[in-house]
Amino acid sequence: MARLPTVVIVGRPNVGKSTLFNRVLAQRLAIVDGRPGVTRDRIFACAEWSGRRFLLADTGGIVEGGDGTMERAVRSQTLSAVAEADLLVFVVDAKAGPHPLDEALVALLRRSERPVILAVNKLDNLPFDHSHQDFWSLGLGEPLGISALSGKGSGDLLDRVVAELPETDSRSNGGGATGLRLAIVGRPNVGKSSIVNRILGEDRTVVHSAAGTTRDAVDSSFRYCGRPMALVDTAGLRRKAKVDDDLEFYSAIRTQRAVYDSDVCAAVVDATDPLNAQDMRVLRLAWDAGKGLVLLVNKWDLVRKDAMTAPRLERDMRSRAPFLDWVSMVFVSALTGQRVRKVLDLALAAEGERQRRIPTSEVNEVLGALVARRPPPVHRGRSVKIRYATQAVVRPPTFAVFANYPQAVPDHYVRYLRNGFRASWAFTGSPLRVRLRSDRRAPKPSSSA
Ligand code: GDP
Ligand code: GDP
Repeated sequence: MARLPTVVIVGRPNVGKSTLFNRVLAQRLAIVDGRPGVTRDRIFACAEWSGRRFLLADTGGIVEGGDGTMERAVRSQTLSAVAEADLLVFVVDAKAGPHPLDEALVALLRRSERPVILAVNKLDNLPFDHSHQDFWSLGLGEPLGISALSGKGSGDLLDRVVAELPETDSRSNGGGATGLRLAIVGRPNVGKSSIVNRILGEDRTVVHSAAGTTRDAVDSSFRYCGRPMALVDTAGLRRKAKVDDDLEFYSAIRTQRAVYDSDVCAAVVDATDPLNAQDMRVLRLAWDAGKGLVLLVNKWDLVRKDAMTAPRLERDMRSRAPFLDWVSMVFVSALTGQRVRKVLDLALAAEGERQRRIPTSEVNEVLGALVARRPPPVHRGRSVKIRYATQAVVRPPTFAVFANYPQAVPDHYVRYLRNGFRASWAFTGSPLRVRLRSDRRAPKPSSSA
């Protein structure tokens, strides 16, 4: 999977970052996935413009501001943003004019060696307003005038973003030289960094990555059982946020990006507090993104156990969501190293399933038996015929099922088919998709047209 580039909107408070973020998302972008990552307002979304996908993140609203600590907080937050970003949109306020804090931030951005687009906001009278020209002095190249409130200029801004996005698609997926890309994901403090260190077999405690760190150093490649593997965004895992307030925010961005960058996600939860709502969000994110999934229940050393503890805990966890029936769980301790390497076996197995292809004849044998056992319900007096199926793609396995009236096949029946496919082939660790298709070449024109 191509690595998803990240665009972060930065700037001092009140310049209009959040307004810009919401504006471009509302008007201009096909939002691929805009679910909130944290409890605040929507702060990042997977977006697409001119055919390029990227993660757009907003840092507005993070800094609680006020008093003398504001400048420090903004600087620190910008540093964190820079470390996460492939490209930055630096927003300044035309109404307020150049501000001393802008210049301080420019110094940070310059050192980052990442592309920066200077957006001069609050030009509500574009194209007659030219006050963005005052910002050439920042030395960030051509200032782009926008009005986040009205949306003016935001299309040009996105054109620039897409034009300057670094090429991140060079990394191969699944079978390529980097091999399986494994993301260790989970909420803060569940033990992700400790697990990464265990897997890599050394304590690479990376200090805070300064603004200049290149993103390419972020993945750790290694071989396991002769297979090339890479841990996604491991430097990001080892880096600890300096400001408590940032922690949740950046860990959410990082999780989202790591999920999209990976083939398989190893979701880490804390055995002493397993599967809370935040954990479930991470699991669903990976599953809905079509990634392989393995569940690591960490800190197993802290659990007082009898013979029933593991099975009971496993049953409790599986009851949280039906898809967990198809996810392998392993109880590990990063502290003692117990079973940590097992995650690599499970990840390889999950990816194997995710890439598995079932021959069409076999698919239709199974489909035929399922339909014979339970035909699709009659829909408004019409008999619905399921004709045949084929596995259209892998990663994840996706089955196209052809019917005369695909819209008339209810969700519960699609679930029945999916469960039937699962019963036949399991696909443990991988999502499995079933799509209903019309068995006619062209969709039937509606009679009431
Ligand atoms: P942030 O702190 O940088 O995220 O800033 P906000 O997005 O919260 O905006 C700060 C204030 O500036 C709000 O009152 C916005 O309504 C206002 N604002 C944002 N964009 C524009 C704009 O294009 N024109 C005008 N006139 N006001 C704007
Ligand atoms: P991250 O934020 O998810 O990367 O979590 P860390 O790896 O930084 O771990 C958070 C805390 O949990 C640290 O104090 C670790 O020492 C501790 N920790 C991690 N794994 C284990 C474990 O298996 N057992 C115990 N007892 N503590 C652990």
